[in-house]
Amino acid sequence: MNTAAGISQLRTALAEPRRAGCSIGLVPTMGALHEGHLSLMRRARQECDVVVVSLFVNPAQFNEQADLDAYPRDPARDARLAEQAGVDLLFAPSPEEMYPRGFATTVSVAGITELLEGAQRGPGHFDGVATVVAKLLSIVAPDVAYFGAKDAQQAAMVRRLVRDLSLPVRIAVCPTVRDPDGLALSSRNARLSPQQRAQAPALHRALLAIRRAVCDGETHPAAARAPGLTVLRDAGLEPEYLELVDPDSFRPAPRIDRRLLAVVAARVGSTRLIDNEAIEPPQTTGAPPVAAAAGAQPTGDTQ
Ligand code: AMP
Repeated sequence: MNTAAGISQLRTALAEPRRAGCSIGLVPTMGALHEGHLSLMRRARQECDVVVVSLFVNPAQFNEQADLDAYPRDPARDARLAEQAGVDLLFAPSPEEMYPRGFATTVSVAGITELLEGAQRGPGHFDGVATVVAKLLSIVAPDVAYFGAKDAQQAAMVRRLVRDLSLPVRIAVCPTVRDPDGLALSSRNARLSPQQRAQAPALHRALLAIRRAVCDGETHPAAARAPGLTVLRDAGLEPEYLELVDPDSFRPAPRIDRRLLAVVAARVGSTRLIDNEAIEPPQTTGAPPVAAAAGAQPTGDTQ
């Protein structure tokens, strides 16, 4: 595996395989790699000739300096894990390389970014993500870029960005990887105390409680949401949001009459966690309620 810290170095390394017609896959990450990130790299390895992973803790998407400072970093371990996952090229730029003096451009996707994560984390968050993703897509120019369903709103925003700017890249969204107790893997989980780690799986259990209510025939979002809220409160958690939303616009759904997304965000101690699950009313799946209530995972989808 080769490592590039500079943009021109990265482009030079990709020039020859690109000329030879090799397909290029990009997995953007902020490091502190875990099985969720590695699943994206393995999928890229299966589908592409050359796999590039970017490792960049993007200051532009953090609204709080303390959150940025506390973000876990272990570049040596990340490089080892990426190499084991079959990555060809690691792009690990400095903040100055990505945002040199005089940097003045912001990419901003309207609509979807104003709700839920956008509303909670502030307007700068998704602008920061959109700007760095646009920049990474421009630098690497991959055929496919891989994102996790765990950050569903981010993935939907990236799809919008790629469509709106006519970028020649396919966006692949891969399923959320979870610990056996359901907690979605996240670099932030490392910050949880043992007691908080015991509380954290309630986020996923809350989503499954909503799914169960919908499988049992509930069609009103407020009523379907109620058992999820109970699960969270029983675990001592108060959500920042717990909603049933349209999977493309992330607007709250007035009725449960098609495939939706149940989304949740909550602070466990000072650590902010998010999760989501696809929710389908029984008549659109044709599946017996018990199958979905058992927690069947949605498959990763690709655009
Ligand atoms: P991050 O390093 O948190 O910016 O995440 C980099 C990529 O990994 C994003 O596309 C995330 O959605 C994805 N990702 C993070 N956690 C998981 C997970 N548990 N399962 C699948 N993908 C994930």
